[in-house]
Amino acid sequence: MSDSALMAVYNRAPLTVSHGQGAWLYDTEGRAYLDCVAGIATDALGHAHPALVAALTEQAGKLWHVSNIFRIPGQEGLAQRLTNATFADVVFFGNSGSEAIECAIKTARRFHHANGQPERIDVIGFAGSFHGRTYAAINASGNPSYLEGFGPRLPGYVQLSLDDEAGIAETLARPTTAALIVEPVQGEGGARALSEDWLRRVRDLCTQHGVLLIYDEVQSGMGRTGQLFAHQWFDGVEPDIMAVAKALGGGFPVGACLATRDAAKGMVVGVHGSTFGGNPLAMAVAIAAFDAIAKPEMLAHARTISDLLKGKLEALAESFPDVIVDVRGKGMLIGLKLIPNNRDFMALAREHGLLVAGGGENCVRLLPPLILNAGEATEAVLRLEAACRTARTRLARAA
Ligand code: PMP
Repeated sequence: MSDSALMAVYNRAPLTVSHGQGAWLYDTEGRAYLDCVAGIATDALGHAHPALVAALTEQAGKLWHVSNIFRIPGQEGLAQRLTNATFADVVFFGNSGSEAIECAIKTARRFHHANGQPERIDVIGFAGSFHGRTYAAINASGNPSYLEGFGPRLPGYVQLSLDDEAGIAETLARPTTAALIVEPVQGEGGARALSEDWLRRVRDLCTQHGVLLIYDEVQSGMGRTGQLFAHQWFDGVEPDIMAVAKALGGGFPVGACLATRDAAKGMVVGVHGSTFGGNPLAMAVAIAAFDAIAKPEMLAHARTISDLLKGKLEALAESFPDVIVDVRGKGMLIGLKLIPNNRDFMALAREHGLLVAGGGENCVRLLPPLILNAGEATEAVLRLEAACRTARTRLARAA
């Protein structure tokens, strides 16, 4: 047993980062790493972005925290930006993705309660999904291992498979169904993008049965796929409620639950809250992050670089069919499904000065900052190629 003073819940890589600049991280020994993790899709503007540093330092000298019993102009400013850019009319601010999910599920149940249908509590979630670590989030998530040892599964959660068309239609029609929650691009599950057809069919069925559609865009949102939100690639598939976090603060902890005014009708005074949620410091940084990420040029850049990466990665997979069996995902949320163990491959990539994240179905994920330039994208693939070569040699030796 470890003698660390930390709870042993993380399997940490043997790497201590000292500082970062743009798409690069430097360890305490001065070694440079190309960062294709970006704090798991969080540092969308890279490290030490000047606009974020300026916003943080300016606000730090003025006011950090006051409590939601007072007006916080930064919340109005960020909510205005988010609602102008999306389907939503109203926003609640928290501090993380899990809190955004928690608020989304509470909002959905309160909607039916306000409509005089309190029996509608069931939330449909999907295999392979990840929504966070609170009790609501682990019950909505499609990975039973997150529930193990934490007592009985909570009532009011239904798990289905994404390809179970009949099951989805049947469950949406039940009188106890409140909401369906889905990631338009699964992140932790291994970078799986849902099709336009899937999203449209589910949107239409939700509308038909009065079920609220919740998108979890915690990982896929804020420019990650080359649109501000991944579902915005398609017309007419807007949700009723959406959870956002990660890149919303560009690395500063902040989360948001967005909803239409109608879907949020049950969220009245006193039913929800947060001490830290939406505090002035978080809002100042998140506004600066939003203004940089939502710029059409930034989203266009993300599309250009992700196209470049996709082309190069597909070529790499062709050269190394014994290492990479699939290239998937959307935009800068890229998954490589591997033959060698993904954890071993992450360590190999690290040896070659490249940081990548793990993912379900034995994937590694590339989640670079959106500011990655073409030279860095090329460099990332060269380093991956070197890792593939080493993996091939080791595989051959093991055979
Ligand atoms: N939803 C998705 C899609 C996520 O990827 C994550 C985090 N990986 C969460 C929710 C939970 O976010 P947090 O860790 O900030 O609570």
